[in-house]
Amino acid sequence: MNKHLLPTATLGILGGGQLGRMFALSALSMGYRVTVLDPDPESPAGALADAHLCAAYDDPQALQQLADTCVAVTTEFENVPAASMAFLERHIRVSPSSESVAIAQDRIREKRFISGVGLQVAPFLPIESLADFEQDLSKHLPGILKISRLGYDGKGQVRVYSPEEAKAAFLDMGGKPCVLERKLELQTEISVIVTRVGTGQSVCFPVAENHHAGGILDISIVPARVEASVAGQARQMALQLAESLDYVGVLAVEFFVLGGGELLINEIAPRPHNSGHYSLNATQVSQFDQQVRAMCGLPPGDTRLLSPAVMINLLGDIWGDDEPSWDILLSQANVHLHLYGKKSARIGRKMGHYNVLAEDAETALGQALELQRRLKGV
Ligand code: ATP
Ligand code: MG
Repeated sequence: MNKHLLPTATLGILGGGQLGRMFALSALSMGYRVTVLDPDPESPAGALADAHLCAAYDDPQALQQLADTCVAVTTEFENVPAASMAFLERHIRVSPSSESVAIAQDRIREKRFISGVGLQVAPFLPIESLADFEQDLSKHLPGILKISRLGYDGKGQVRVYSPEEAKAAFLDMGGKPCVLERKLELQTEISVIVTRVGTGQSVCFPVAENHHAGGILDISIVPARVEASVAGQARQMALQLAESLDYVGVLAVEFFVLGGGELLINEIAPRPHNSGHYSLNATQVSQFDQQVRAMCGLPPGDTRLLSPAVMINLLGDIWGDDEPSWDILLSQANVHLHLYGKKSARIGRKMGHYNVLAEDAETALGQALELQRRLKGV
């Protein structure tokens, strides 16, 4: 299991969006070959991989081809069909495992797993059918009804203030399994990205502080502006979770920080995460380098922070008829622009991000926000 898989072997990835693209860039620069499976002919990762299998995620021929040509396969998203992962596992090394992905793709299973290993989550109530509305919901209201599967970037989430509203929202979302979570007063949000390899060795990236706008991650600040004890505890919890899952790969853990520094786990992602994009410039290895290293059975790389950093997402909202004025970013010596090569810009679509590195996080944040205002033309 822990044999090192070395270049020029071919690595496969399920999904070819921006995360797949940044994975491919890491793998290609190390000398691996990359095959992407993604049904989108304009897949950002497919455009630069050695091979792009343009087929559905459960296409038997495409899966067979991955199994025949790759030494290992990973994923860039959690909604891969479980049967596809299980098929690949019978033939080649797959990381993370189908079991870890199955837990992360289902909020009910995810929250039960996390609390089952003794870690705190926000109080939640699984809602699987109308009968679940017969119980007392008051402890979970006002709350957020979240669809259990396939939600992302705040999609599949509705604020609800009464049992009637919760019921209407449940029916509106098609009566599919949901969790009702109490709306908490958050002091801030942070995330930790862990890399765990087959030998059990694991390392964390520095803790990021995350700010959302319109339900989508907007800004990550590193190091997070929380007490050292809070950051330390978040790292411990993330490592414990990776251990409990017997995880192999890159695992992102999102936390809520409550008043007094209490930490709750919000959710996990079985892959690199938007809040870890600062690692492309601010740490010795990036989260995508780690994804390659973990799937190849190599030890995790050094995650020491080389410079405080702020990451800002670039959404389709700032595209008019023309490209935004990239000169605003590219004329700065300490700013790193990353664009994903997506052909069409839409409101809320993640098109790229930029990292600002400076001697301290406050300086980086001030500059990053000023650049954001100029890009938006305000
Ligand atoms: P993403 O894909 O961006 O991670 P998501 O759609 O999976 O998002 P969550 O992470 O559950 O959804 O929630 C998105 C954001 O909504 C959180 O980061 C937080 O800002 C806010 N939020 C979610 N649940 C709660 C809660 N119980 N109390 C307060 N705020 C919440
Ligand atoms: Mg989230």
